[in-house]
Amino acid sequence: MPEAVIIGSERSEVGLPTGMDVLRRGGSALDAVEAAMRRCEDNPADHYVGTAGLPNAQGVVELDASLMLGSGRQFGAVAALRGYPNPISVARAVLEKLPQHSLLVGEGAALFAAENGFSTAELLTDASRELWRKQVVQSRESVEGENTAATDGDTRYRESALALIRRLAPHDGPWGTINIIALDSSGEMCVGVSTSGYPYKYPGRVGDSALPGAGNWCDLRAGGAACTGRGELSMRGGTARTIVDLLAAGQDPSDACRAALADAATLPDDFRAELRALALTPDGRHGGAAGQRGSVYALMTDASTEPEFRPRSVL
Ligand code: ASP
Repeated sequence: MPEAVIIGSERSEVGLPTGMDVLRRGGSALDAVEAAMRRCEDNPADHYVGTAGLPNAQGVVELDASLMLGSGRQFGAVAALRGYPNPISVARAVLEKLPQHSLLVGEGAALFAAENGFSTAELLTDASRELWRKQVVQSRESVEGENTAATDGDTRYRESALALIRRLAPHDGPWGTINIIALDSSGEMCVGVSTSGYPYKYPGRVGDSALPGAGNWCDLRAGGAACTGRGELSMRGGTARTIVDLLAAGQDPSDACRAALADAATLPDDFRAELRALALTPDGRHGGAAGQRGSVYALMTDASTEPEFRPRSVL
């Protein structure tokens, strides 16, 4: 029997102890990832996930999340979901209750959440609204000299939003998506990803976090992997899937992450920003990689009293 373990990206440490408690009680990897991720989504100090996540260019929070199981590669995801604070749980409901489908977006995802009894909440907090106002609204006003009406379908707004998104510098510091990967004592593995996405994204933009192969991949024959950072690069690189393929070919987790990120880094991209990755194998080996020195991932095993941090290898 493998030893239960749970790992996660920067800021997952808020939720990992909850996930480890689930695993210690003999709970499943899926339960552990969902419980841990909900803690992160509910953290008002985290502006990259769930409640308080940074909104799109129009000031509306749109969330992406996914879950993938290693044994049968079952996948459930939601994207551009508005008004529901725990997209990871809606993604789980897609996985378990809607086996005909794997990914719901926008209005359909919200309809499904409502039908399954999830409660809505205001996701834009005062702090995240203020960040959006300072970084987007004021910047747009200073460019145009006037406050352009941000109405849906307005061509001028669409052009200015796109111009603004092109001009916005990629974020300093770690991008905010949370990755959590758990291995339970039965040997099942689950990869979970949740995010408010590219800050101030174009409305309707879906990132890698909701897409199998890009931001999330789990195959019990080799391992699980997940990404944070510029999702358009991990979509084009098939990065999470590439990492698992490299695990299957015998690479260790940190080498596999580094090689897959190096491949994505060869792609032409005017909006280049950092990509990070994490991986876990079915025998409990783990590792991560990042484009910048000083990046870490968090880890808990049965022996841990609190999350420990491990360095990611650097590209
Ligand atoms: N990967 C996420 C996305 O592209 C962003 C992030 O990690 O912050 O939506």
